[in-house]
Amino acid sequence: MAKYPTYGREEFPYGDEEAFKQVFFEAYENGREMVGCGKVADYIPELRKADYRSFGICLLKKDGSFLSHGDVETRFSMQSICKTVMLAVALRSFGFAKTFSHVKMEPSGDSFNSIIKLDTASNLPYNPMINAGAIQIASLLSTRFSFEELLGITKSFCMDDGITLNRAVYESEWETGDRNRAIAYLLKSKGVLQADPQQTLDLYIRMCSLNVTAKSLAGLGLILANDGQNPFTGEQLVHPRHIRTVNSIMFTCGMYDGSGEFGVKVGIPAKSGVGGGITCGVKGRMGIGIYGPSLDEKGNSIAGITALEHLSHLMHLSVFDYHPIPENGEKGRE
Ligand code: GLU
Repeated sequence: MAKYPTYGREEFPYGDEEAFKQVFFEAYENGREMVGCGKVADYIPELRKADYRSFGICLLKKDGSFLSHGDVETRFSMQSICKTVMLAVALRSFGFAKTFSHVKMEPSGDSFNSIIKLDTASNLPYNPMINAGAIQIASLLSTRFSFEELLGITKSFCMDDGITLNRAVYESEWETGDRNRAIAYLLKSKGVLQADPQQTLDLYIRMCSLNVTAKSLAGLGLILANDGQNPFTGEQLVHPRHIRTVNSIMFTCGMYDGSGEFGVKVGIPAKSGVGGGITCGVKGRMGIGIYGPSLDEKGNSIAGITALEHLSHLMHLSVFDYHPIPENGEKGRE
């Protein structure tokens, strides 16, 4: 799909900011050309209102420099991307063992809102990135946190004080969220839900309805890339070992049932949401935030995936890339 294969894998001129920008804009253009090939989510009626042509990417580095283009200031609901924040907060507050006594850590291979395996194969949801797992985590969090407290935490994770509840999305999802209600009551019937189903769903839906931008998702990505520390304030938001867990789960489960292909082709821990957002943390280097509400058949931003493939391929961003990327301009190790 790369339309402008200007550089081969071995030739990328690291440290050359102009080359870096060129690859960034190529990636953006390649993504933008794909917007007509996907579809805006419509199962939550309010999400239908998004303009399928919208597309923005923001790339934020540890030194504070950033590149952004397109609709990076547009507010949209973070949807499933809140699952990364909720998992990080659960790990930080309850620890690894307790958190994973409430949810498993395996890819489900089913769609994000599936109920099948929960009923037949396991009493615990497969992972915290599918709805059943996130609802379970929300029930745990609701025993200790108010929504306002989690909103404040999300603002600091995204380095964005402007995050608010999108009330129209919240109400729309509350009215049409029968599958999520079914999941919560099934979890209750199995005796594993930690709080009242209505209270749990209210928190879960509020978190999904938080209004972010591509820039805020780049901020979140940078915290994930930087071992849980805000590089600008020095604040350690989450212990590095917990961020390692969050990134691992994002890598294996973050892109719906397209996570395997995304892992192979892009190779960056990432989480997408049906509102069209994607957050990615490129270990030790940068956060990437994307807004592109036209979704592929798996539910991932079609322009976003296309652009990330281009960026990852040409800049060697995969965690498995064989060329370490020096930041100081010298040539990478062969
Ligand atoms: N709030 C959405 C739901 O529960 C989140 C879906 C998503 O972004 O994957 O259906």
